[in-house]
Amino acid sequence: MRVRNKQTVLIVEDQMINRAILSKILSVEYDVLEAENGAAALEILTGQKKKVNAILLDLVMPVMDGYEFLARIRNTEFEDLPVIVLTGETGSEAEQQVLDSGAWDFITKPYQPVILMTRLKNAIARSQMGMFERICYIAEHDTLTGLYNRSKFFSATRHMINESEDGKFAFMRFDIDKFSLINSFWGEAEGDKLLCFAAKVIRETGDGFDACTYGRINSDIFCICFPYSEENVRRIVRASIDRLSSYGANYFIKPVFGVYVIEDPEVSVEAMYERASMAAATCKGKYSKYLEFYNASMARELDWEQYVVNNMKASLENGEFVPWIQPKYELRSQKPCGGEALVRWEHPGKGVIFPSKFIPIFERNGFVTELDYYIWDKVCGLLRKWIDEGRDPAPLSVNISRIDMYNPNSVRILNDLVKHYDIPPALLNLELTESAYMDNPEVMKGILNSLRESGFTIMMDDFGSGYSSLNTLKDIPVDILKIDMNFIREDGADAGRSRTILASVIRMAGWLDLPVIVEGVETEMQVDFLKEIGCDFVQGYYFGKPMAVSEYVDLMEENKTIPGRRVNNKDISEIVWMSNPDTERLIDSLHYPVGIFECSDNECSLLRANDPFNYMFVPVRGEPLLDVLPSSHLRKEDNEKIANACSALDALHPTASMEMEITDENNDTFGLSMSIDYLGKIQNRKVIMTFIRILPQ
Ligand code: C2E
Ligand code: CA
Ligand code: CA
Repeated sequence: MRVRNKQTVLIVEDQMINRAILSKILSVEYDVLEAENGAAALEILTGQKKKVNAILLDLVMPVMDGYEFLARIRNTEFEDLPVIVLTGETGSEAEQQVLDSGAWDFITKPYQPVILMTRLKNAIARSQMGMFERICYIAEHDTLTGLYNRSKFFSATRHMINESEDGKFAFMRFDIDKFSLINSFWGEAEGDKLLCFAAKVIRETGDGFDACTYGRINSDIFCICFPYSEENVRRIVRASIDRLSSYGANYFIKPVFGVYVIEDPEVSVEAMYERASMAAATCKGKYSKYLEFYNASMARELDWEQYVVNNMKASLENGEFVPWIQPKYELRSQKPCGGEALVRWEHPGKGVIFPSKFIPIFERNGFVTELDYYIWDKVCGLLRKWIDEGRDPAPLSVNISRIDMYNPNSVRILNDLVKHYDIPPALLNLELTESAYMDNPEVMKGILNSLRESGFTIMMDDFGSGYSSLNTLKDIPVDILKIDMNFIREDGADAGRSRTILASVIRMAGWLDLPVIVEGVETEMQVDFLKEIGCDFVQGYYFGKPMAVSEYVDLMEENKTIPGRRVNNKDISEIVWMSNPDTERLIDSLHYPVGIFECSDNECSLLRANDPFNYMFVPVRGEPLLDVLPSSHLRKEDNEKIANACSALDALHPTASMEMEITDENNDTFGLSMSIDYLGKIQNRKVIMTFIRILPQ
């Protein structure tokens, strides 16, 4: 075995405890020297008892701070030493300032050991190269993980396959299922940390082969190309799953692998990647499926895609794309109160083709915009026709694809359409999928505000399918929340949990005065449950499937009804309150203090609170409500108000709200508005939720 001399890292940091932690992390792989400020560091460097290979530098230190240290080593023999700055500040300005001062890289506190080690390793590797090599390195490597980037990985793979004489290779793509969840629940720093760890796993795996290439394609997608044998594939998959599942107790990490066994080495590496990706896609969201090999039926999908692409324009011109309509119902009256236009491809040879077969393709190639404009036009035409026929039509909604929102013409086209057909914009509702909001919330806000000003009603479609929190709802201008049908699917163990979340979402939407439509309602049981939790509107096969326009017209004629009014049904007799991670996340996602209490007789004790609540009141679980709040000097009469409100709450009087003033430790007085909501009962005890806003001064 080759013995490697350990390299030496110098930690420059005034806090002893920080030095000790860093030293502990680093000493696994490096010899570590410590200095308590810039001056002491200079002494160590010039003393040169030991060659230093890299420096970790704190910026704020007595005697000589980090900036001065960097200035001092400039133009000296130490100028080329990689210096990584440890900074508490984030944001591009602070980062730029650090890099301008001569540092190579920076790491933000709190330190993530894996990131620290990776960045250090990358910096040392770069410092051992010449200038030209360094520029090449940066062009070819991914800065976060140090692996090959996409283009270098593709070219290195091409090279490897060409060079190999008879070897057969496997091209594997892997990513982490629902990686965005990790990013959004635990923050990007955690996400980066996981990616560095995954890179480490793949590097160790790859280095075990004589011939192998690996790299990071983008975000959480990694690829590795290695000599094919069934055994090699299983081994890599097994090892990666084991390593990744040992990664952290807090998350369930599910890697997903797609493999293309390279039968034909002439195929371009991009195509190999596509095939491996196609295979991987079949594992997504499936609990127990980790690995799939590319096969010919996936190729048939490619053929279908080709067919669709070749025929879409002509078919649109032929009028083969037709809006069908699925009615929406007001839950309380169970009367239809509008509909959603859902496109069907009425193909002359193949029959009716459903959107799942072509919309994703159109979304990839951009044609969806053309199709959507066409459908919007047809829908406006229908509304006009019904008005002319004196039918007093209920609103219809159309789907807005996420890429429509990036087309600057879309807003104008919608406005032009309602003008052209002379219909009230309130009759045309716009459904925009949740994930589109999250792509670019700032831009989206502007567009949606302008659409709302024009009089359109905006629905957030598929809410709950992505990972946006309820908290985003208060910032995004939407009028109606459409809840993804997955929330009410009854699949075994998860059913209870989904229901609890659904109940919380509907309740919280109520606070924001957002009416809710639940989609995909299929059974009477679901209907009963939705009634119980105060859902306003529903859409689903139980009430009606998407139907041809003429059928919809008949349905609406039979059921002439008053337009839907918001129901505020808070009559929950009994709920099952359990502390589960999803509810916790929901509560945590709110910026306002939220506390959940359990009340027996006159005492309410804390079950659960989110961080803003804890921060404001420093309560302890189990503490009574009125003991929690006066830690911030509640007035006596307010005390009584709250106590009375709590004891008066019940299923018939589920909400109380009040405003009050509190004085904190610094004698600052500020106004609070507090709402108390009755959530339900656990045996004889009530569960209530307090929701607090600080009023502007
Ligand atoms: P979506 O907007 O979420 O539409 C709801 C889908 O759920 C529809 O599928 C509808 O038929 C289906 N659905 C409704 N109730 C039930 C139920 O009780 N059970 C089940 N299992 N399914 C139910 P569809 O029509 O196949 O549309 C699928 C997706 O295609 C739509 O999802 C939408 O994202 C997209 N889409 C449809 N038409 C258009 C369009 O004109 N433009 C764009 N951009 N997308 C469209
Ligand atoms: Ca929709
Ligand atoms: Ca939907």
